[in-house]
This record gives sequence, C-alpha cells and structure tokens, in this order.
Amino acid sequence: MSTHRNHRVAVNAIVVATTVLTSCGSPPPMPTPFPEDTPRLMLFLVVDQLSQDYLVRMRPLLSGGFGYLLDNGAVFTDAHHNHANTVTGAGHATLASGCYPRRSGIISNQWYNRATRAQVYCVQGEQYRRSPSNLLVSTIGDWLKDMDPESKVFAAGGKDRSAILTGGHQADAALWYNGGDWVTTGYYTEPDWLESFNDRKWLDQFFGELWEPLPVADDMLAEMDIVTLDEGIYQRSFPYAFGSKSLRPTGGFYNDLLSSPFSDEYLAELAKTIIVEESLGVDDHPDFLGLAFHALDYVGHSFGPHSREVLDTILRLDQTLADLLEFVDQRIGLDNVVISLSADHGVVPMPAYRKSVGDWGERTDMDDIACFQAVGRALTERYGNGDWLRAGLYLDNEAIEAEGLDPLEVEREVATLLGRCDYVEHVWTRSELMATTPVPATDQPTEGAAYFRQLFFNGFHPQRSPDFQLQYAPYYLDRMAAGSTHGTPYDYDTWVPFIVVAAGIGPRQISERVHTADVAPTLAGIMGIEAPAELDGVDRSASLRNR
Ligand SMILES: [Zn+2]
Repeated sequence: MSTHRNHRVAVNAIVVATTVLTSCGSPPPMPTPFPEDTPRLMLFLVVDQLSQDYLVRMRPLLSGGFGYLLDNGAVFTDAHHNHANTVTGAGHATLASGCYPRRSGIISNQWYNRATRAQVYCVQGEQYRRSPSNLLVSTIGDWLKDMDPESKVFAAGGKDRSAILTGGHQADAALWYNGGDWVTTGYYTEPDWLESFNDRKWLDQFFGELWEPLPVADDMLAEMDIVTLDEGIYQRSFPYAFGSKSLRPTGGFYNDLLSSPFSDEYLAELAKTIIVEESLGVDDHPDFLGLAFHALDYVGHSFGPHSREVLDTILRLDQTLADLLEFVDQRIGLDNVVISLSADHGVVPMPAYRKSVGDWGERTDMDDIACFQAVGRALTERYGNGDWLRAGLYLDNEAIEAEGLDPLEVEREVATLLGRCDYVEHVWTRSELMATTPVPATDQPTEGAAYFRQLFFNGFHPQRSPDFQLQYAPYYLDRMAAGSTHGTPYDYDTWVPFIVVAAGIGPRQISERVHTADVAPTLAGIMGIEAPAELDGVDRSASLRNR
C-alpha cells in the first residue's frame, strides 16, 4: 500500500507544480503515469453463476461474445474459486481485489455482527444505505485510481453487491437494478445522465411480449445435455410472460424481467451509455468498466444447470456480449481494450438430473430440518434454557461465560451433534480454522481433507464468520425449494471461466490450475498497474505475453 501512497504523492506533486506554472486559463490535463501503448479501457466482465462447465458443454453454439473471448483469449481451463462459501458477495470481492474472503472480509452475502447483535448485509453502509465500507481491501479499480486519478472507474450489475464490490472504494459510480431503473447511493456521485436514461423505459418494449427460446435442434439439445426434469412440485415451461394481468408495466413486470436474459441486454445498453456519456477509453488515462451480468443466477436458481432456460439465457448473453463488443470495437477499438471474463461461483447439478443419469444427489428434506432442530433441543437439555447459538451458527460467548461453561466443550458438543445429521461430511469449527496455517496457492493440495481445510480457512474471517461451517456431501443440494443453488467447496461451484483478451496476448489455452484471486493481479500486470504486494492472487501476465 505504501508504494501507492507514494505514487499518489508523486502525481499530486506534479499537479501542484503545473498549477503554480499556469497563472491563468484552465489547468493543463494531468500527465498520465502510463506508457502511450497502454490499453485505454479494462472491460471487467463477470457473469453470475457462469460455471466453466457451461462454456465447455455449450461451446458448439457459442459464436457470439463468449465465442470471441474463447477464440481470441488466454483461456485458463482449470480456474477455481479458492474459498468454500461460493456465493455472490465473496466471489465478486475476490475477483476485484485478488484477496480471499478471510482478508477482504466479504465472507458471504451477509453475516452476523456479534457486537451489535444484528445481521449485516455485505454492502450495507454506515453513512449511506449501500457502500463498500465492509470491504476491507482495495480493488483493481482502486489501484487504477491510485495510480492515475484521471482514470474513470464505473461498475454496473443487476445486484447492488455485485456492482459495488466490482467497483471498489473509489469508483466514480456503481449502478444496480431496482424495479426497472438503474440506481446508486449517495456514496457515489449520481451520473447526470442517469435520470434521462431511466426515463427511456427501455424495458417496456417487452411489455406484452413472451420469452420464447431461440431455436436449437433436438440433437444439439441432447449434445448440450439439456433435459426436462420433473421436480414433482410444479412443472414450468416456455413461454414465459412477465408480471401479471395488468394494462401497464407494474413492479411485478420489472421484477420478473430481472430473471430473464432481457435484463442482461438492458445492462449492456446501460454499459454503452456509460461508455459514451463518461467518455471511457478516449484518452490516455485508462478507464475501468466492470459489468456483472446477473440473469443467469436467477434463471439457474429457478431451473437448474441442465435446463433449456439456462441454455437460452447463455445463448442470448452470447449475442448481447457480441453486440457490446462490436460497439466497443467501433468506438474504442478492441486492440485498445483489455477484456476479462469470470464468474462469482458455479452451480450445483439438480438431484433430479443426477438421478436421471444414475448418479447420487439429494436435496434438503424434512428429516434434515428436524435433525437441526434436534441439535438445538439437545443443547437445551444439556446446558439449560439459554441462547447458546445466535443467528444460526454463532455461539453466544457471553451467555456461555456467564453460565461458567467451557466454550471449547460447547463448541465440540455442537460440532458432534451437527455432524450426526444426514449428509454432513464435516463441521468446520472456529478452533479448527484458527489453528490452520495458510498454504501458498502453488503448494496447495487439490483434493482431500487438506484441500477443503484450506478452502474453509481462506473463507474464514475471525470477527465475521460463524463458529461452525458445514461441509455437506458432494451433490447434496442445500435447498428445499425446486431449482438449484451454490455455496459449496466442490468443483461444480468453484470451477469458473478465467479468460483474458488483450493485444500482445495470443489465443491460447492454459491447463494449469489457477485461482480467481489471480484475475485482478493478472489484469494489473497487463495494464502496468501497481498492485498491492500482499495479495492472495498471482499475476500471471508474464506467461501470457507473445514472444
Ligand atoms: Zn445465486
């Protein structure tokens, strides 16, 4: 960090010097600390829930933006999140900061604050309703701003947490979707063009329209492993309308659209407007635009990774990205742009799918819920009627001390009882993770108990994490409702794309196992941005350059 401050001081000194020399008129533009051939724009793309499995399985149909990135990029084919709690907040923070959740502090989408005894949302602010104040580290956008305060940093996404964590502390603005509009908070300066952009009501073109899937031949569907599953509760299928029987667009209409590929198109439309209105990529102060495409996560939660709905969302995003890249090419030239693609997490294959191909899979059932409740009852029987656990799996240390109980004994007891519930493979306790030593990513085992220990350790923050984290059996889906989810340390949740496209970096496939914490330092390496020394991720740019 000290090198950054020094750099900022140096740049400020130059400003002071030039200001003194210019006695009238507007001050001359600030000199850029970047060499002339530095790319002018970083396009930092994150697709929520985009498992790398999708890019492999659906590759023959990806001829648009995904196809362009796969054909022209350095493609890491074995990139993984290296933390256990694979959820949106933790994933975005890791991608943007190069730090694991144990240091970024973004261990999950929300956690329990022991001091205030309240739930905390990951981008909940103190002064403002939303801000990056819970993010304990800087991001690539911050590093860029530290180096060149004239650089512009913008982020946008369907969710507030994806936009804010991608943009970082110094972003000019982070924008997210709220009831059909793009909004921000007072932490940022609201762009002066935003209101008129929202007033265009771009989404209203879908009012009275249906979501029908793009045509795909039956044999291709079979090749992509797209199957119709009967989940027993209710069966839904194309086409889908948005909202209810209303004569004008309602909140329900805009909410439903968020879970459709058309809201990804809307984000791309916003991205073009940001590029034009904020003049991104037009001067030699490089800019950053982070985009978090969100529709796939909502569709994947509802229908699972082998659904026609997921396939269609990806095919449409492929087209949306192609259109966006063409726009960027015409305006800035793709030779002047560094593009990255990754995802905040993957997705669990649905038990119904697993069973259809003869493999094991289970989802949460009534027995699992009863088992948890029985643990609570057993604690009461053993220790008396106290609130030993707060907000789920946080021990109430004050109550335990007040009763004169041994905290370690209580921890052991809870872990033993939870470990007896079906499909719980291991209960990772605070004591166990506090006693874990970090292993450098390059020396880390890639399977077995030692591997999972590192993943839970990398995601453990002493003040914010619960006292117990459950590792379920692989292919156990911790969700009662139909559909799927994510959040496990297994490959289906950790394995995500990591693609970089930049001038001087030839198309190639790299099979070495790498981590999502490498994304930000690698981009910084390509751009010549100074990254903090103490990152968890590794700058892999040197090995990517053409000879
Ligand atoms: Zn999700």
